Amino acid sequence: MLDVVVIGAGQAGLSAAYYLAARGLEPERDFVVLDANAGPGGAWRHRWPSLTLGAAHAVHDLPGMKLGEPDPSEPASAVVGRYYGSYEDVFELPIHRPVKVLAIRPRDPDDGSSPLLVETDRGVYETRLVINGTGTWDKPYWPSYPGQRTFTGRQLHTHDFRSVSEFAGKRVLVVGGGTSAVQFLLQLAGAGVKTAWSTRRPPEFTTRAFDPEWGRDVERGVNARTAAGLPPLSVVAATGIPLIEAYQRGITAGTLVSRGGIERIEAERVVFDDGSAFDADVILWATGFRAALDHLAPLKLREPGGGILMDGVKVLKEERLLLVGYGASASTLGATRAGRAAAVEASRRLARIPEHAL
Ligand SMILES: Cc1cc2nc3c(=O)[nH]c(=O)nc-3n(C[C@H](O)[C@H](O)[C@H](O)COP(=O)(O)OP(=O)(O)OC[C@H]3O[C@@H](n4cnc5c(N)ncnc54)[C@H](O)[C@@H]3O)c2cc1C
Repeated sequence: MLDVVVIGAGQAGLSAAYYLAARGLEPERDFVVLDANAGPGGAWRHRWPSLTLGAAHAVHDLPGMKLGEPDPSEPASAVVGRYYGSYEDVFELPIHRPVKVLAIRPRDPDDGSSPLLVETDRGVYETRLVINGTGTWDKPYWPSYPGQRTFTGRQLHTHDFRSVSEFAGKRVLVVGGGTSAVQFLLQLAGAGVKTAWSTRRPPEFTTRAFDPEWGRDVERGVNARTAAGLPPLSVVAATGIPLIEAYQRGITAGTLVSRGGIERIEAERVVFDDGSAFDADVILWATGFRAALDHLAPLKLREPGGGILMDGVKVLKEERLLLVGYGASASTLGATRAGRAAAVEASRRLARIPEHAL
């Protein structure tokens, strides 16, 4: 029986694993990290090649080892994959991959302190606690609109975007109000692709300085939702889009001007709320992600509002589970801090768990 199973080897899971080892838990004997990916990098492994490190917001250092100053023109997927890979090696973290967790359930459903069974595609792990850091990448969010199925062109999500070269000569509608949408639009327009942008609300460009006070405001906002059992807004969505010079130029050129919300989708065009339309070959849904938590369903944690009641990394309904990278900690900085908080809380709980639960 393990003390802790960490699920996910992204920023959150790696940080948790580092701090578990630092608090004296023995890798493999006391804890393991299960990761569905074939190699290191968490979600960053899958980011499209044109998302360079320079175009990312910022990747925070993991504890105990700095990212350093990699070439900002290198794809973030390669930089972060390499960084996490060395990190796993240097700290000899017990990563098991590829192992996909399918479900987590109590060994004894009537005993709130019985061990948890972590069911995976490679067998079952039995553990006293789980630290879950499964991120959002595996749960792309697709909104639905009247007529969407009748569209005869291509529809894809950020999750499956690879390169603007796929869209040469096409008319592309980009949907979504976040940084990914903005970056796609600029890249597509730069490659001569005809684009239009749809956002439900006016885009929230901000000139506010990204200082610590701003960071605290964002965290307070997201925490207020998770503490009320509501699904979190992504941190990126809660921050607004920093109005850098390139974005200002895009606004002036008309590329970054939203046509408003979608009223309906027809076979070859999209009609906006104001009645105007765009003839489209492609709809690119840059509509974000949700927390990838389907494997927690047997624990019945969801509130009527659709979220999970949280206090920091603690799940109020389930003592044997800590969530990292969820809600306010869904950024590389937040995930790093959450990993530490979860490891501290896990050691506190392990000291408290009654012997009969072993
Ligand atoms: C396009 C995009 C750009 C972003 N840019 C930035 C940025 O510049 N700066 C920033 O701070 N944040 C950014 N973010 C937010 C980013 O997701 C977080 O910062 C951080 O990388 C998330 O770390 P994580 O450990 O929570 O999750 P992830 O990196 O997603 O890692 C989760 C891991 O869990 C594994 N996993 C998932 N489900 C299972 C399962 N059932 N069983 C086993 N393993 C599983 C996955 O395979 C993955 O390896 C961005 C997000 C997106 C979508």
